[in-house]
Amino acid sequence: MAGVYISWPFCAQKCTYCNFASGVEKPEIQASYLDALRTHLARQDWPFVPETVYFGGGTPSLLTVEDLARIVEKIPGSPWREFTLEAAPGSLNTQLTAEWARLGVNRVSLGVQSFVEKELRQTGRRHSAQTVADDCEMLRDAGICNFNLDLIAGLPFQTAESWEESLAWVERLQPRHVSVYMLEVDEDSRLGLEILGQGGRYGASAVAPDEGIVANYERAVAFLASLGLPRYEISNFAQSGFASAHNLKYWRMEPYLGFGVDAHSFDGAMRWGSPEQVRDYVAYVDRGAPREVGAETVRPIEERFLTGLRLDEGLATDRDALSPALRSRIDDAVKHKLLVWNGKRLRFTPQGILVSNEVFERFLGVDDANS
Ligand code: SF4
Repeated sequence: MAGVYISWPFCAQKCTYCNFASGVEKPEIQASYLDALRTHLARQDWPFVPETVYFGGGTPSLLTVEDLARIVEKIPGSPWREFTLEAAPGSLNTQLTAEWARLGVNRVSLGVQSFVEKELRQTGRRHSAQTVADDCEMLRDAGICNFNLDLIAGLPFQTAESWEESLAWVERLQPRHVSVYMLEVDEDSRLGLEILGQGGRYGASAVAPDEGIVANYERAVAFLASLGLPRYEISNFAQSGFASAHNLKYWRMEPYLGFGVDAHSFDGAMRWGSPEQVRDYVAYVDRGAPREVGAETVRPIEERFLTGLRLDEGLATDRDALSPALRSRIDDAVKHKLLVWNGKRLRFTPQGILVSNEVFERFLGVDDANS
């Protein structure tokens, strides 16, 4: 079954670590984007009835309920099996959460990142640990008991001790789902640029070395498992039955359609995307949102490995049916204890997960002629 992704790329502030296509924009720019989004959705010739809707960004929780309703009314299939809304802690209130529930929202993902004051202040986030606790209570009161807490391992000033403080809050708040990302250092975020340039702004000089970040991630894996939230994907942990149905579609190569800036679509054979800038997206919709923009044919084997291996369940594959080139790359990764066979499923080992990007690179451009 297929899913729909919608991007609302506007935020109250631009966080220092953020490398998403998101930012602060004037109301009139947001209004023109809203119109473009509705036009794009209204023109869509739906090849399927969506089962899941994921509203990300950006900060879609900043949308009024009226505007949120005006967008999702264009999507067929309501009520969806899973309707996720990403939310910034502190942007919730009891009336809003009740109206979300009425609209069919049944899963909320809170961008917590940390529960520690010193870490939060450096990122530009404005909430506190208590804000998150209040938000979780409001969500439960509204009947939205399925919520996710996002955390980042490796924020400036994070230590092994402060990480324990964040994990203790997770235990207290008892979410059904937690995502733990390791800090990404690249040129798309202010913090990443500062670290790469060896500067000191945004707490760049107070980021733990790689080993410290990995140790915090591994501590989270063990701790969350002890809370009944085992890892099911490299960065995702959930109680049984609460893995994200929408995100599983990406990793299982099921079809999805994306709307809004930097949103991707996949029909089983082709993947295409939309422009990354708001103004370019509005112009793109004016041109009829041509599918050719960024369209690429997916290499099925390569794609299966890049997505399926992310899952703890691993990738079902028959070694004997694979091309010699692919077999040899797998065998080499198995020899180095990065991948392991479990019957006919190929999985990451715990140490393989820590260098997953390097392992994925082994499968780029692989010859799959015999597969
Ligand atoms: S991290 Fe989230 S809230 Fe912060 S700028 Fe990026 S999208 Fe917006």
